[in-house]
Amino acid sequence: MAKTVADVMQMVKDNDVKFVDFRFTDTRGKEHHVSVPVSAFDEDKFVSGHAFDGSSIAGWKGIEASDMQLMPDPSTANIDPFFEEPTLILSCDVIDPADGKPYERDPRSLAKRAEAYMKASGLGDVAYFGPEPEFFVFDSVRWGNEMGGAFFQIESEEAAWNTSKDYEHGNKGYRPTVKGGYFPVPPVDSGQDMRSEMCLLLEQMGIPVEVHHHEVANAGQMEIGTKFSSLVERADWVQLQKYIIANVAHAYGKTATFMPKPIVGDNGSGMHVHQSVWKDGKNLFAGDGYAGLSDFALYYIGGIIKHARALNAITNPGTNSYKRLVPGFEAPVKLAYSAKNRSASIRIPYVANPKGRRVEARFPDPSANPYLCFAALLMAGLDGVENKIHPGEAATKDLYHLPPEEDKLIPTVCHSLDQALEYLDKDRAFLTKGGVFTDAYIDAYIDLKMQEVTRFRMAVHPVEYDMYYAL
Ligand code: GLN
Ligand code: MG
Ligand code: MG
Ligand code: MG
Repeated sequence: MAKTVADVMQMVKDNDVKFVDFRFTDTRGKEHHVSVPVSAFDEDKFVSGHAFDGSSIAGWKGIEASDMQLMPDPSTANIDPFFEEPTLILSCDVIDPADGKPYERDPRSLAKRAEAYMKASGLGDVAYFGPEPEFFVFDSVRWGNEMGGAFFQIESEEAAWNTSKDYEHGNKGYRPTVKGGYFPVPPVDSGQDMRSEMCLLLEQMGIPVEVHHHEVANAGQMEIGTKFSSLVERADWVQLQKYIIANVAHAYGKTATFMPKPIVGDNGSGMHVHQSVWKDGKNLFAGDGYAGLSDFALYYIGGIIKHARALNAITNPGTNSYKRLVPGFEAPVKLAYSAKNRSASIRIPYVANPKGRRVEARFPDPSANPYLCFAALLMAGLDGVENKIHPGEAATKDLYHLPPEEDKLIPTVCHSLDQALEYLDKDRAFLTKGGVFTDAYIDAYIDLKMQEVTRFRMAVHPVEYDMYYAL
């Protein structure tokens, strides 16, 4: 049962709450917060909202029209597990006081519009999303910032060990090697207690945990598998999951990162997204076609593959994202689908029960804003269904090692953020249907992300010294 305003007021009493903390997510996917003392909090906050200055949020309003309202969603209420003073947290929509409507650039409101579009189109009642955000945990000991950025000592120094073969560093017998993290028992895996603590907090906050484990990369790569849910709720959970992971790691004197490719030469972090669409209590993805899929599901795949390069701008939104999308590290490069093949962009996981039938998009990464990422995937999939876009034959071979004549027939994901932004600019009509994404927001998104492209393009890279210094 979703929590109501009355439930929230009861939680405030029962937990002797001293502060109420309002949270919202910006375009880049970063959560922000503002707190009010409990004396300034009552039921009216759920009607009138809480005013704040939106002028400093990147990609939002300018200083001349900066007043915004946060409208808390009572169903998201939780007691924060980290603050000293009892604090109740609430996820919020952002309202534009100019017209009292959800702000067109608020990712959470946009995700709600995507759900509403699906219902209004009659294609489905509910779309389920099951993301798998992977992450790295590093010791938060600074090595220095001589390259203009912070370098963190990796959990077990094994990357340095593997590249330098420097035996001076002591006995590394219990350290995972490159691609050796998945998933020997301790002491090779030293993250069990920390992950367990993260999982207990997730469950305490209402997010069902299904599994936790070390991941394939050597240097403290991990994954906590949590249950699927409907689009907006699941995106809220991703934000909460990132918050808990980052803060538990911090309490252990470590840092967690969701950047897609922190270590050269080892696996990066993906955020595979499992999806299915239901109507009248039935999973519309179950059928008797390839891998037990319906035509509906095949068309949904067709839509994702057709629009994948534009989607990349949202599902893989950083310059670093494209360092993950290379062959050899379990991340996809080819825009194909397959029941088994982890080198394909879309995988159909084997599930005996048709209720669990779903597709897994493997190209997204955890630096994506979950609201925008899930909304964009849904819009692409539904566009495939509406236009009956068949995805062609399934791929059965290892797509990393195809003979050249076959290789050139299968398209690839984008190779850079600027390429993805160009595709998004040209291929945006599937996103603007029903006003889910507005043209103005897509333009602002491209501007914001081009600033990152330009900043990175202007930076001199260590690899350039290696390649060019001594020429
Ligand atoms: N880390 C891989 C990726 O980048 C996925 C590994 C896995 O979960 N099998 O997508
Ligand atoms: Mg997984
Ligand atoms: Mg994984
Ligand atoms: Mg997966």
